[in-house]
Amino acid sequence: MFADLYQQIILEHYRHPQNVGVVDGSLQVRNEHPSCGDKVLLSVCVDGDTVREVRFLGEGCSISQASLSMMTEAVKGLSVDEVRGLYEKFREMLHGHEPDEDALGDMVSLQGVSRFPARVPCATLGWETLFRALALESHEDNPGQPCE
Ligand code: ZN
Repeated sequence: MFADLYQQIILEHYRHPQNVGVVDGSLQVRNEHPSCGDKVLLSVCVDGDTVREVRFLGEGCSISQASLSMMTEAVKGLSVDEVRGLYEKFREMLHGHEPDEDALGDMVSLQGVSRFPARVPCATLGWETLFRALALESHEDNPGQPCE
């Protein structure tokens, strides 16, 4: 499914995921991709327009968990618009377009997923969960704390 180098990057994130955990006082959103068994609890802190902290607890296939690890590394410190722009590039890659390697970093390792449409939701699970959290955050009745 993947070239060796990409396989190594994916397995490295799968075995040693970044940003695992739950942040006190954060927005927390659960999501899953049932047909593969992927699950996530995403914990997000937004300060103004900036994503300050993202952590996750997850289980599932290597693509979903590695993608979560990569995403949490990539989006920290970005504005919500920048997060949207990055996801757009990621999705284009998953639909077979040539990736923007500078912007995507380790996420380029997931480009082989584009040949397996049934696995695309594994790679996008974390992102979709993040956007659910950001949509919640923008509601006025939600506290949307920056989590210190
Ligand atoms: Zn999966």
